[in-house]
Amino acid sequence: MALRPYIVGNWKMNGTRSMLSEARSIDRSAQRLMKVEVALAPPYTLIHPVHREAEQIGVGAQDCHHEVEGAHTGDISATMLADAGAKFVILGHSERRQNHGETDELVNAKCHAAISAGLKLIVCCGEAEETRNAGNAEPFVIAQLRTSLPETLDDAAERLAVAYEPIWAIGTGRTATTDDIAAMHGAIRALLVERFGEEQGGAVRILYGGSVKPENAREILETADVGGALVGGASLTAESFLGIVAAG
Ligand code: PGA
Repeated sequence: MALRPYIVGNWKMNGTRSMLSEARSIDRSAQRLMKVEVALAPPYTLIHPVHREAEQIGVGAQDCHHEVEGAHTGDISATMLADAGAKFVILGHSERRQNHGETDELVNAKCHAAISAGLKLIVCCGEAEETRNAGNAEPFVIAQLRTSLPETLDDAAERLAVAYEPIWAIGTGRTATTDDIAAMHGAIRALLVERFGEEQGGAVRILYGGSVKPENAREILETADVGGALVGGASLTAESFLGIVAAG
């Protein structure tokens, strides 16, 4: 089972309605680029407007609460996201882990909430620079995923994507070497196969994230076991994001 490369734009805390024209341009061009699955995760306030614009691209969120409803002022549930038109949610991004103290256990609970609401998941992992320099990147990332990922999933290949994003590469202009990416994605693949079986775990797309740009996208996307990219800064304009999509 080989799924199309998955290129996902993460707008983070960027975007007002004036940016809907970028989403429209991405959607219209993505229609001509059928060999790639393209998606955008705008801020909450733009999920429904982007959903209404989008004919081709998937729309998702950057986080959700781990409960379905209740007294959680300022939080958004997976059910609400689905109701607004979201098809997927990014969970465990390092900015959530760092800025909001999200643990692997909480990310796991969010996975369950998202699955119950019928959303697909992009579960993020990635090591800090000190961890890599100490030679511990692989065990760190695998331990993160062991706890963060759902324990079972019948439809893992369709339901789940994993994004490997070394923290030191996010927004810095630095990227991991293709050898390091291949090694890490290989280790993640082994965990996915162990957990979800050869057929499903073998087909889950493992995205790379961290300073992906039109100039480096082809090399990264051609690396072994790279099934797509999670793109931050370069997804904010249609021009640069489509440059990455074209490399897929
Ligand atoms: P970046 O962000 O492409 O701006 O490095 C990637 C991400 O955090 O998902």
